[in-house]
Parts: sequence; structure tokens; C-alpha cells
Amino acid sequence: LEYAAAGVSDLRPYQPGKPLAELERELGIRDAIKLASNENPLGPSPLALAAIREGLPTLALYPEGSAPELRARLARQLDLDPRQLIFGNGSDQVMEFAVRAFAGPGTEVIVSQYAFAAYGIAAQASGATVRIAPARDYGHDLDAMAGLFDARTRLVFIANPNNPTGTHLSAEALERFIDKVPAHALLVLDEAYLEFMDAADYPDSKPWLRRFSNLMITRTFSKAYGLAGLRCGYGIGHPDLMAVLERVRQPFNVNTLAQVAAHAALTDRVHLQATLANNRRGIEMLRDGLCHLGLTILPPAGNFTAFAVPGGGQRVYDALLRRGVIVRPLAPYGMPDHLRVSVGLPAENQRFLKMLGEVL
Ligand code: PMP
Repeated sequence: LEYAAAGVSDLRPYQPGKPLAELERELGIRDAIKLASNENPLGPSPLALAAIREGLPTLALYPEGSAPELRARLARQLDLDPRQLIFGNGSDQVMEFAVRAFAGPGTEVIVSQYAFAAYGIAAQASGATVRIAPARDYGHDLDAMAGLFDARTRLVFIANPNNPTGTHLSAEALERFIDKVPAHALLVLDEAYLEFMDAADYPDSKPWLRRFSNLMITRTFSKAYGLAGLRCGYGIGHPDLMAVLERVRQPFNVNTLAQVAAHAALTDRVHLQATLANNRRGIEMLRDGLCHLGLTILPPAGNFTAFAVPGGGQRVYDALLRRGVIVRPLAPYGMPDHLRVSVGLPAENQRFLKMLGEVL
């Protein structure tokens, strides 16, 4: 359509992982596996499922989008002022709040090459100019990013760790970078995979909020908490910043079941620990298995790892699909020779490795 907004005309939409049900229909099977979207193979916490069942009778009522109970619980758990939080329909939406509030025609948004695709899409759709800093070793080159700062910079996106490359930034490097972000720009620090991170140099970013009022940390219930289908994520920042973002938040954005499930999930340490244990073991299995097949892998992080397949990822992706295994091709990220696989249950990891061995 010629009358689409400037940024939208040549936008390439986000390509999500292939849905499991779709592949099962295509192949006429019922036991396909999806290791394509960094979801939690253990599913949601049983406490979250119970809270959802309890919440069902209230579904005729609109949700309270400011999520008061979830907010109070999370503020207590993270030792924050409740006004430092904002909730979104997934953390994707929290990033969109930032774009809506700060970007737009005439502004610039800085991302890294190989960054999570949603940043560039939201920014471009707003009419902002997206400036892409070349990556270094598949990770953020912070000097290159800082080199792009100028008077029109309004937003800077960094995922730590980065999806899909698995690279992460140390506390020291990131702190030095935040110091350089101009006061007229907001840094969105995306910690979607925080719970999985055990690297010694991985930052504890929350104390930075006291020093930098132009920093927002985003986190999600989609990954370690296994609630991707309900869509609930949050941002943490200075109360004044959150108040600005609240202006562009739609009133009923986080649904009732998402709120009660996220609240219950926070109380279930046992499920979280089981998730992390499964993940640790799964990362080892995938790393060993991929290396055994002679493949080069990028650093595993969060609940996924990317790996190179000589001769092109698409062919291997298609062949795995025919065997009932969905992974993620990274061609849309400009990495046509790479695929990304998410940690599954042990049997799923094994099946993926076996099928990949066959295909190769
Ligand atoms: N950030 C990163 C780095 C991600 O990988 C994802 C999900 N793939 C998200 C944010 C979005 O998560 P959600 O919207 O489900 O919270």
C-alpha cells in the first residue's frame, strides 16, 4: 500500500519460529519437537497453572493493566520502589513503549548487528532511523555503538546476553558504556535470559539504576518462567521515566491470567530451580553433541546456542523439519550459515542431535 507510513513500507516483519501444530499437520505426526523459540521445556510452574484456573471466573472483567499485585510482589522481591516498574504484553511491548515515547521521524535508534530483531522492527516502524553498529566476534562492539551517538540519538538497545548469538557483556564493559550514553538518549538493557546466566562477569545491573536515570532494564516471564504464551514482561527504571512510558501504555495491555500466573510463578522457587538445572544439563548436552558432530558453536547462553552448518543453514533446517524437529534458521539475522537451537528436555536434545547427525 502506497499510503503506508515511511518506515513501514520496506519493513521486513519478524519471523517467529514455526508453530509446532503447523508442522505436525504438514507431516501428519504428533510428536514433533520445537526447539526454536527459547521456550521453557518444563512448561509453566504448577502454581501458575493453579492461579490461572482460579482466575478464570474473573475473565468478564477488564484487567487492571498497571498490575498492582504483581507490581507489589515484584517490587518486594527486587527491593524496588513499585513506581520503578512497568508491565507489558511481553517484554517486546515494553520496548515498544520506549520506541513510542522516544523515537519517531527525525530521531535515531542504535542497535548492534545481529541484535534481537524486534528492536530494529519497532524503531523502523516508528519512522526513526535505525543505525546498526557492526558486531565484533558476533557480539556488541560497544566502541562502535558509542561512535554512533549524536544529537539525534534517542534510544540504544542492548541485549545481555544477546539473542541469537549468545554473546554477553561484562559488568565492567557495560558500565563504562552506560557512562557514555548521552543524557538525551535512553539505554534499553534487555535481560530476557538473566535467570539462566551464571558467568562470573555477568552484571548485577540493578544498582546502576541509582546512577543512570536514562537506563531501563527489561525482563520477561516468557523464558525461565515458562509463560511465553501468556505474554508478560516488565521494565525497571527511574520512576520519572516509567511515568513517561505509562503515557503510551494501553490501559488493558497485560491480561488477567498473565498477571496472576506471573505472580504465582515468582513464588515457585522449586520450579525455577528445576528449569535452571534442566537448562544447565541441556546446554552441556547440546555443546558436547554439536562439537562431537564437528560443528562450530557460538557461546551458549540463556537457554539456547547458535551453531554453524557448513553449506548453509536453510538446507539443514528444512531436512530437520522433515524429521519433525524445528530449530531456528538465522538467515533473517544475516547469518545464513547458522542455526539456533533451544534447550529442550533431555530426550528432545538427544533427538535433535541424532536427527542433525543423520542430516549432516
Ligand atoms: N529479548 C530477547 C533477547 C528475546 O530473545 C526475546 C524473545 N525471543 C524477547 C526479548 C521477547 O520476549 P517476550 O516479549 O516474550 O517477553
